[in-house]
Amino acid sequence: MMLEHLPIGVALYDAGSLRLLSANALFHTFLDTFLEPHWQGGQAVGHTVQEWMPEGEVSPILAIFHRTAETGVPYQSDEYAIYFPGHETTYWQWTLEAIRDGDGRIVHLLQTSTDITKAVLARKQAEAERKLPPHETQQAVEGKQRRLDVIETVARSVRESFEIKSIGKTALEAIKKAFAPRLVSIHVADVGSQALHLLHLEYTGSEETARNLLQFVSYSSTLIVARAYSQREPILIENVQEEAKAGRLSEQQPVVMAGAQGYVCVPLWFKDYFEGALCASFDSSITPDDVAVQTIIACGTHIAAALAHARLHESVRNERTRLRLVLDRLPEGIMLIEAMDGTISYANEAAGHILGIPYKQLVGTQLHRHTQHSPVTGLNGQSALPWYFSVIRALSGEVISGQETIAIQPNGNRVFMLSSSAPLCNESNVITGAVVVFQDITAQKSLEQQKNDFLSIASHELRTPITSIQGFAEILQLKLTQGEVLDGASLRAINMIAEESQHLTQMIEDMLDIARIEQSQFQLRLAPHNILATLSRVIENYTLRMREREFQYALDGIAANDSLFCIYDEERITQVLSNLLNNAIKYSQSGSKIEIGLRPVRQSSGKLREVEIWVRDQGIGIADNELPLIFNRFYRASNLDRSLSGFGIGLFLVKEIITRHSGHIRVESVEGQGSTFFITLPLVGPGPLLQQKTPPARQ
Ligand code: ADP
Repeated sequence: MMLEHLPIGVALYDAGSLRLLSANALFHTFLDTFLEPHWQGGQAVGHTVQEWMPEGEVSPILAIFHRTAETGVPYQSDEYAIYFPGHETTYWQWTLEAIRDGDGRIVHLLQTSTDITKAVLARKQAEAERKLPPHETQQAVEGKQRRLDVIETVARSVRESFEIKSIGKTALEAIKKAFAPRLVSIHVADVGSQALHLLHLEYTGSEETARNLLQFVSYSSTLIVARAYSQREPILIENVQEEAKAGRLSEQQPVVMAGAQGYVCVPLWFKDYFEGALCASFDSSITPDDVAVQTIIACGTHIAAALAHARLHESVRNERTRLRLVLDRLPEGIMLIEAMDGTISYANEAAGHILGIPYKQLVGTQLHRHTQHSPVTGLNGQSALPWYFSVIRALSGEVISGQETIAIQPNGNRVFMLSSSAPLCNESNVITGAVVVFQDITAQKSLEQQKNDFLSIASHELRTPITSIQGFAEILQLKLTQGEVLDGASLRAINMIAEESQHLTQMIEDMLDIARIEQSQFQLRLAPHNILATLSRVIENYTLRMREREFQYALDGIAANDSLFCIYDEERITQVLSNLLNNAIKYSQSGSKIEIGLRPVRQSSGKLREVEIWVRDQGIGIADNELPLIFNRFYRASNLDRSLSGFGIGLFLVKEIITRHSGHIRVESVEGQGSTFFITLPLVGPGPLLQQKTPPARQ
């Protein structure tokens, strides 16, 4: 009776025959769910399991019964589902236990059965509500995992790279590997050209047309990607071909042409800056919930940030390169010296050039260790870089500017420099080094020197004729006040006054010419002239002054019908020839020979090309090393007797005038034996002669 009220089914069996001895009502309910109808309702009691158990079930159940009966090992079933046509599926759990007598022999078997249908159904319902069917759940998990993987790969790769190109490549390769889109591309915005430039493209199959079309997309283009510029939300086209069929999408869109179905374009914005666009097209249509679409949108945020960083990084790098280029190319020498150990960490090319030391040899060495070891200069161990003390002052925070220093190059050349030094600080305002900027002022220095020399020569040169003019004038005054008539001596005095005045005028004219050249106001009055006639006139003027020289006039290779016309300013060419003749007389002994010559220079065809005029003397000559210098302003050679008057500007003017006539000047000289100055002037035929215009007269 007690068993009847138990909430579980209970049945007792004979352990030997497996006969069902008794069972409570609940157990019968359990049996009724699977027994044949004639065994239901308690009919099985008194019969063996083999008899009433349905055929399909009997053998595995018997095996369990036999084992427990023989071994005494209890049995507990799993969730046991019982399907019966016309009935709801029920779920049971049952157990089997051996019952022993006083001697320990197994005499009975006790079976229990528990209806767990409710619990199982509740669990299943909860599972169903909570989860998708198993295979779908699996897919969702995988999809989620894939999505996270791709985002992680993209985020990592773009974080690690500041190289715009590699950001594009890694990001797209990860997307391609995960979702096999038909085409995926990144476009970078270019503010200058108001267009998107294709950064990278990954595709399956051949999409060359798309690549060409997407290479450069102006913001005003009709391509979908161009819309990214004016939009913040992703552009999704779920079914491209349907849109095209409905006429809402042009057949000319690359995505339509490529036969893609789904398309997503993610505008890449970082804060308020448009960085570009990330686009993908798929072989099948898409929805906003697709893992691929969600992932690509999520990747867009990372790519936009990475592009912004790369852009900033690149602009900083460009700025640095530009600055470096500017420093490299500055004509001033620049050196950076580190505070820690005085190492030169940077030197530009100009620094190396000014110091006569390749700049690469300067970098990496310590400033104070850079010493002279030159057999040329004979200097040994002295510092080659004269900024030791100014750098120490700069490192203690001082700015030193406009300092004049001298460096001696390894070849012995002295270089005058104007330099400034200043401290270099880091962001925390700690002095980490010093910068030295210097320029080569040797040329200015020598010009200054020349000007000083010129002033002292000029004052002397001008005083000499003035003194003699004053002297002769006083003689004449005296004679006149004493009522004397002008005699031969008076005439000589007047001649001397006239000559010295002319000499003064010439000197002043030469100086004015220099000023005209410097102010680009030196003008020529060009006209065709017969050079032979000009030369003859100059020689004629010099007949008197040549008295004390043996004079020779050589005309070389002139044919009877040669026209020796050149276009020149006659006054200036007269000045050139006079200057050369003057020098020949001035720098040679009385009685020596002076030759003036002229010869035409012909082309290989025999046609006249130019005329060469030379002035040869047997004077003091010029040392080889000074030959290139004598045409410089104010230069006078070192072998001169300084009592010989002169400013050192005659040959400078000669060269200027000849060059302005498209001619040349050169000199051959042996010191102590004499010099020959050659000038050439181009000859002209009768044609161009007639077209020459004569400029207005000189002021
Ligand atoms: P200046 O004769 O007034 O010194 P120039 O410019 O005419 O100036 O000549 C420059 C220098 O060239 C001269 O000082 C002299 O040293 C050298 N020189 C010029 N002509 C001759 C010459 N015929 N023989 C030797 N030295 C010359």
